[in-house]
Amino acid sequence: MIDLHAHTNFSDGKDTPTELVQNAARAGIQVLAITDHDTVAGWDEAIQAAQNFGIGLIPGIEVSTRAVTPSGHGVSVHMLAYLPDPNDQALIGALNRTKESRMVRAREMVSRLSKDYPIDFELVLRQLPEGSTIGRPAIADALVEAGIVPTRSDAFTSILHRTSSYYVSEKSLDTIEAIGLIKRAGGVTVMAHPLIDFPPGAKREDLPRAHFETLIEAGLDGLEVDHRAVPDVARHWLRDMALKHNLIVTGSSDYHGVGGKDNLLGENVTSPEMLQRIIDQASGFEPLT
Ligand code: AMP
Ligand code: FE
Ligand code: FE
Ligand code: ZN
Repeated sequence: MIDLHAHTNFSDGKDTPTELVQNAARAGIQVLAITDHDTVAGWDEAIQAAQNFGIGLIPGIEVSTRAVTPSGHGVSVHMLAYLPDPNDQALIGALNRTKESRMVRAREMVSRLSKDYPIDFELVLRQLPEGSTIGRPAIADALVEAGIVPTRSDAFTSILHRTSSYYVSEKSLDTIEAIGLIKRAGGVTVMAHPLIDFPPGAKREDLPRAHFETLIEAGLDGLEVDHRAVPDVARHWLRDMALKHNLIVTGSSDYHGVGGKDNLLGENVTSPEMLQRIIDQASGFEPLT
């Protein structure tokens, strides 16, 4: 089994990179990608662990980006970057700016929350190892520790929800700019969980074709079609789009560890042919196979 999307505690996963690799090996994964949000900080440990546990590893990043669709809607787009050069200064500089903005935004959210709940930023920072990317999951974990909500997911459906008055958005890269940065660093770009915000009852003709075509023209290499959050109507439409433009199609778990999210390692997988296309197109870093 090939699973190309998983998180560690260097972003919002619960496992250390070593635990992630060990859990993947136990789950029967032969090739795993580590894809923390906006950081390569977990790569070294994951590579070491993959060698120890004897599985293949594709180092990657899930890059936070924002796009404005042709119809004028601002949307958050997560872009998976496989095998980029982790020393590419343009890419790393951009990721560091996103991380910084995520820090500012998390502080602001916690400052709003602290007016109504017994929580402070110290407690949030204690949820993460040094160098990791902060996000709402760390705030959720602090809320759980303070006894304000029972679980991470409960925080997401209530006070951390996008529509909550405590919510603040971060500044991230423009999607097209991110595609360029990743590709210039030798990486392969695959859009993570496309169209998850699309209502399940939506019709095919409502799907944002022009938005996707703009990104494909900008060099988008692939689509993560098989992901638990991608609605069925979108999957068919995305496969047609991939066929038409000869894009890579992947399937992945987006595992965040036990208590991180319900997603299980290997629940969605990628074919060996598609993995080979990723490896052949990448030039920034050597995969461990
Ligand atoms: P942020 O990027 O800081 O706005 O937080 C979004 C992140 O939180 C995503 O990357 C998800 O992995 C994670 N997330 C979203 N919904 C949930 C949930 N219900 N439970 C746990 N984690 C979630
Ligand atoms: Fe996440
Ligand atoms: Fe994501
Ligand atoms: Zn993810």
